[in-house]
Amino acid sequence: MIKKITECTWDYASKKTHSRSATFYEASICVVLCTSLVVVYENILQKVFDPTSQYNCYVCKSRKLIINPDDSAEEGIVQKLYLKCEECDAIIEAIFENHDENHF
Ligand SMILES: [Zn+2]
Repeated sequence: MIKKITECTWDYASKKTHSRSATFYEASICVVLCTSLVVVYENILQKVFDPTSQYNCYVCKSRKLIINPDDSAEEGIVQKLYLKCEECDAIIEAIFENHDENHF
């Protein structure tokens, strides 16, 4: 989906850039499309870097999880994390797989 949005925005922007009959409104749409695209990428990046984003509460299905500081203290590389549901206080155990870095 993100690839399609990016391609559409690029197509529209390049069409309007080289068009001799583009209007102010079309230019305005172009700016909005580009801005929205940046927001979509920002959102994805935030999810990639947030370790809790892929988890939800197994009790109430809420995604409002916080890292439980009581249980998460560990030395070295963190491989297991305890997340606490802000809705129902359930504790979720998050285990990080041991894989190589720089996987982007
Ligand atoms: Zn919950």
